[in-house]
Amino acid sequence: MTRIAIIGAGIVGSTAAYYLSKYPAYQVTVFDHGLGQATKAAAGIISPWFSKRRHKAWYRLARLGADFYPSLVADLAAAGRETSFYQQTGVYLLKKNEAKLAELYQLAQSRRQESPLIGQLSLHSQSQVTERFPQLAGFEEALYASGGARVEGAELTRTLLDASGASLVTERVDLQVGETTYVVGGQPFDQVILACGAWLGQLLNPLGYEVDVKPQKGQLQDYFFDHLATETYPVVMPEGELDIIPFAQGKISVGASHENDRGFDLSLDSAILAKLETEALSYYPLLTAAKSKAQRVGIRAYTSDFSPFFGQVPHLPGVYAVSGLGSSGLTTGPLLAKNLVDLLVTGECLLPVTDYPIDRYIVKR
Ligand SMILES: Cc1cc2nc3c(=O)[nH]c(=O)nc-3n(C[C@H](O)[C@H](O)[C@H](O)COP(=O)(O)OP(=O)(O)OC[C@H]3O[C@@H](n4cnc5c(N)ncnc54)[C@H](O)[C@@H]3O)c2cc1C
Repeated sequence: MTRIAIIGAGIVGSTAAYYLSKYPAYQVTVFDHGLGQATKAAAGIISPWFSKRRHKAWYRLARLGADFYPSLVADLAAAGRETSFYQQTGVYLLKKNEAKLAELYQLAQSRRQESPLIGQLSLHSQSQVTERFPQLAGFEEALYASGGARVEGAELTRTLLDASGASLVTERVDLQVGETTYVVGGQPFDQVILACGAWLGQLLNPLGYEVDVKPQKGQLQDYFFDHLATETYPVVMPEGELDIIPFAQGKISVGASHENDRGFDLSLDSAILAKLETEALSYYPLLTAAKSKAQRVGIRAYTSDFSPFFGQVPHLPGVYAVSGLGSSGLTTGPLLAKNLVDLLVTGECLLPVTDYPIDRYIVKR
């Protein structure tokens, strides 16, 4: 039996636990201190096809990450799990200069061949949009893609962890290198997966590593409504930071901020949330009718070139890491975690590891 510790129970750690549970030779223990988790705070939009980012390896990962969801969801459903956390309710893109929508439509069409998941693409007038999202306003035209999805990060990780059967220890731990094993939370392990997002440097710095991963604070606000059938509403993505993300049971989320200068600060900043709300009101005035609100704060991990990485930590055999998922980690996280597990168990994986090289971001001093 191989004893393996996973540090971090966000999307990466919980997906890794789930895929490792398919190998009876592994005994998995997951450690998570639960503070500031990006996955729990995420808006949950899965719609990478409109990105104009030129980084080819990143786009490939993001589109394959979106493609991976239906198989993950089908796998969980076949195991008898509830999977309503993932819904392809479609997405609307809005532009201040609406002439740019035609350009975006062309870009999405050109990507459709390799990504049929994008679904039906069409330009809709405001009155057509309100058939799907009643009372949405502040624009004349929007681009619709029926394959856009939203995922409840907290629900997904709970489902994956439950299905994995792994033990979960809710405490902050560090990684110690023993004579023949690694030690995590006072227990010996043969292998370790560092799925600790923005906190990777805190674990590896004491072992003499420089880690190119920085924290980025993100805040969003959830609005709760009585008698609003939001479960079928599409996600709305205007330009800039603002997104409006409807979930089931009358919940609509508005977010999210991207704050690079706040370190691991988890306090709420009401000015930032108020600014997002004011902008959201120009598209959805009904927000004022919400019966209650709640806020979420999480810390994303980003690298200096905004690229994620995964693989074996240099000079630490049996220790693997995934980090740097940035703003699209709910999209890319499950696929990266699955590939990491394949690499760890078989020595091979489908994603080319050289496209996401860990030794560029983790260097032994
Ligand atoms: C506000 C916001 C909105 C977002 N919206 C989207 C979106 O719409 N679409 C999208 O694709 N992505 C989105 N993201 C990005 C996405 O959420 C992240 O990239 C992804 O969740 C990162 O997953 P992770 O597993 O790497 O890290 P995390 O989810 O942060 O998990 C890491 C876990 O490790 C734990 N940990 C760290 N150190 C230790 C330790 N020493 N001991 C024990 N536990 C430890 C932490 O507590 C945490 O729970 C958003 C993020 C935020 C914050």
